Amino acid sequence: MTNIQAPIGLDNRTLERLNDCFRSPCDRMPHQIAAWTGMRLSDATTLVHMLYAGGLARLYYRVFHTCVEHPVDERRFEDGKVKELPWTCPECEEDVHDLSELWYDKFILTEEPIVFEREVSGS
Ligand SMILES: [Zn+2]
Repeated sequence: MTNIQAPIGLDNRTLERLNDCFRSPCDRMPHQIAAWTGMRLSDATTLVHMLYAGGLARLYYRVFHTCVEHPVDERRFEDGKVKELPWTCPECEEDVHDLSELWYDKFILTEEPIVFEREVSGS
C-alpha cells in the first residue's frame, strides 16, 4: 500500500470516494474516476498524470478505430499515439492512412492500493 498526499481542495466525501476507487489495484480511465468521485474530468486527468509521474501507476492509451466500438490496441504512454502511417489495425487488418480514423482514451494501471491522505506523516 502507498500513502500519498491527496489533491488539494477535495471535500471529505470526494476523498473517501477517491480512496474507494484506488483501494484495489486495477485499471482506471480518467472519466471513470471523475464519474465515481464527482471530480471534474480535468482534475481526474491531472491526478492520473500525477500518479504516473510519481511512478505509482503505468499509463496507457487505448486505441480506437472506426471499424469497431471497442479498443483495437493499447500503447504505452511513453510510446505516444500512432504517428507512422500507414498503421495496420489489428482488428480489421486494414491499413490506416488518416490519423483522424483513430482516437484514444487514457487509462492507468496501478499495482498496489493507493491511499490519499490530507497529511502524509513523515513528509
Ligand atoms: Zn480497424
